[in-house]
Amino acid sequence: MNVKTVSVVVPCFNEEANVPLLHARVSAVFAALPYTLELVLVNDGSRDGTEAAITALAHTDARVVGVMLSRNFGHQAATTAGLDQATGDAVVLIDADLQDPPEVIAEMLKVWEQGFDVVYGMRVGETFMKKTTAKLSYRMLRAMTSIEIPLDTGDFRLMTRPVVEAVKRMPEHARFLRGMVSWVGFKQTGVLYERASRAHGETKYPYRKMIKFAWDAITSFSTLPLKVATWVGFGVALLSVAVMAWSVVARLLQLPGLLPGWTSQFVAMLFLGGVQLFFLGMIGEYVGRIFDEVKGRPLYVVKQVTRTAL
Ligand code: UDP
Ligand code: MG
Repeated sequence: MNVKTVSVVVPCFNEEANVPLLHARVSAVFAALPYTLELVLVNDGSRDGTEAAITALAHTDARVVGVMLSRNFGHQAATTAGLDQATGDAVVLIDADLQDPPEVIAEMLKVWEQGFDVVYGMRVGETFMKKTTAKLSYRMLRAMTSIEIPLDTGDFRLMTRPVVEAVKRMPEHARFLRGMVSWVGFKQTGVLYERASRAHGETKYPYRKMIKFAWDAITSFSTLPLKVATWVGFGVALLSVAVMAWSVVARLLQLPGLLPGWTSQFVAMLFLGGVQLFFLGMIGEYVGRIFDEVKGRPLYVVKQVTRTAL
């Protein structure tokens, strides 16, 4: 019987202490499983000893593929670089910091064998703030887009080869992988797992980056903000027609106290100006995104791939 290969793809940014730990944990999981492991470690332009740690592993363990990016391209791009290198029949995405326990992979593989194409990890237990912010942005995203993005999931998931190939054909720069994987379709399901705290180092997702990520997710999957501009514009136009009618009538009827009148004009002017600037900015966001995509630059640049032929 043909032994199936499973690629485990790991984006690593300043994770020197976690890389050997992760390798040990993943190896232990696969030691008990009837699959061939391919561990794709992507160094996303780390400034610590991550590159050395990955190179050392790639030289001693033929199952390890080291992918060195030329600089820091960000989590989503690094993950994409790993997906592009992975050759397995199934690919598992996992973070380097061991917050997603590698032992869950065994469970995901079982579900895969039951005929599912995507098995995502659903988190129970995480810091309150992170969970609330994540929940809020997912709920918002769900309300604003037509695709079903499972709640409380990260990028920790298993995908079969056809799913990986479909995702690889999506060239967008503003990447939101978990949304893209949902968009692809196929048979998807989740397994519950407890999210641990980081083994070593600190998070690379401060709130500033999380907000940017949520905004990327919304604007790359939804044009609702643009539609809001139209609706609000329509509402404001209706309102101003009403005010115009009222002022004409008031003038004709010679209602008292009309002469000052500049307050209402001033307020209306400021209000209209504000609304216009706001929506101009919103449209600008989308134009900026179009600009980004239209340049057609690669998502990442690979400096070197260390792969020992199996
Ligand atoms: N990461 C990366 N490039 C970056 C930021 C993060 O490859 O620019 C990796 C990081 O090494 C980790 C994963 O993405 O393996 C998730 O990052 P982190 O654990 O900091 O995020 P959190 O779990 O706090 O959301
Ligand atoms: Mg983490």
